[in-house]
Amino acid sequence: MKISLKLGIWFFVCILIIETSSMFYLHRHIIHSRAMQELNSLKERGNSHRDVLEFSMDPSTLHHIALMESKTDTEVVIKNNNGRIIESSGPIDQSMKRIMNKPIPKVPRKGLILQSDLKGEKYIATVSPFNGGNKTKGYVYMFKSTEQVQTLISQLNKHFIFASFLILFFMLITVFFLSKALTKPLISMKEATKKLSNGDFSVSLPNMSKDEIGELSKSIQTLANDLNHLKQERNEFLASVSHELRTPLTYIKGYSDIGRRPSLEEKERIHYFNIIHEESEHLSQLVKELFDLARLDQNAFTIDKERIDIGLYLKAIYERVLPAFKEKGIKLKLDCEDGLFFSLDPKRFDQVLLNLLDNALKYSNENTTSHIKALKRDKSLHIIIEDEGIGIPKEDLPYVFERLYRVEKSRSRATGGFGLGLTIVKQLVEAHGGEVSVESRVGKGTSFKIVLKEQ
Ligand code: ADP
Repeated sequence: MKISLKLGIWFFVCILIIETSSMFYLHRHIIHSRAMQELNSLKERGNSHRDVLEFSMDPSTLHHIALMESKTDTEVVIKNNNGRIIESSGPIDQSMKRIMNKPIPKVPRKGLILQSDLKGEKYIATVSPFNGGNKTKGYVYMFKSTEQVQTLISQLNKHFIFASFLILFFMLITVFFLSKALTKPLISMKEATKKLSNGDFSVSLPNMSKDEIGELSKSIQTLANDLNHLKQERNEFLASVSHELRTPLTYIKGYSDIGRRPSLEEKERIHYFNIIHEESEHLSQLVKELFDLARLDQNAFTIDKERIDIGLYLKAIYERVLPAFKEKGIKLKLDCEDGLFFSLDPKRFDQVLLNLLDNALKYSNENTTSHIKALKRDKSLHIIIEDEGIGIPKEDLPYVFERLYRVEKSRSRATGGFGLGLTIVKQLVEAHGGEVSVESRVGKGTSFKIVLKEQ
């Protein structure tokens, strides 16, 4: 069943119950108070006859009261103490007799309602006692036909039925539009998620109110945007990877074709094989880096931290890379505060530092100096790798940590880079709970700063 229909039925049933019960209560209340009004005025009339009788208890007064009532829509019957009717305003029918014959308790002076049921008898009735002295005691019975009140009730019923239908009609219209308005955003969100699950991320949900439904819609929109972004990123990444793979493969294929020529001299063949070897090295490096990245992306590796003497640790790395720096004529310096201990995963961190130092080496010319610095600031370990190399242009700086991003593709290729090294650095530093940042000036040098917080 559709949610709008479900909501509509729920609203309708609830409001119908509320409306019916309040209408029922109102109807009962109005009829009751109207009947009470009639009864009280009847009793008052009886009481006033009683007062007149007590003032002057003679046949002409009796006659006068009866005459007065015969001209109105009420009837009076006056009985004496022995139960004999001494005066009445008109003929006494069966219904009146039944009412008067009802056993009654002691009647108070202010009168008593004898018959208030509007349906059971033809009349509503009250009784007031009188005491005219000299054995002239008795009762004044007052009657009023229920017909008038019944007419009033049936008129009232008509109004109530009309009002109920009117309310019902407007209620149906309100419920219809309300359930539509409430379910419209839900339906568009349902459509959106359906589109998402079918792989179509071009979802655009309208800006909704700032309530829970609006929040939900915003979250779905953010999810769709993220998925769309991821899809684009993946496509771009795949395109770049296949491009990266194609270049060395073209070299390998081309040079192996030449190398197979029988007319080729041995020296030339060796030269071509060397190129093929170099290109395959290049390929396996790319595959290794891609594999590392894939593992990092899946979080399929653990960080096993141990407490390390940073001075010793950096010294070992320094000695490992020093020959390569020396060979290129670049000075490498190491500055580390004494007694620096910190918890990190040395194996994973080797990769971070070696990637950064490899870049310092690749992008620096001879007779420059590269620097490894380590210091502690506010319980954080700062490791800085600085060089006096070619630097990175300002506009490229925000992107250097993105996968396959290289500032100068041709130059990077010549130095054997794929633009994955810094991505791996960033992922590994973040896996350690730290941050890496870069500052650089073209022609002056570059400085990478890693900040690790003690946990
Ligand atoms: P690559 O393997 O190509 O060096 P990286 O991810 O390590 O890839 O670096 C991305 C790009 O950032 C490099 O192509 C290079 O242009 C630039 N870069 C990185 N480190 C340095 C540096 N120390 N000096 C100058 N440019 C650098």
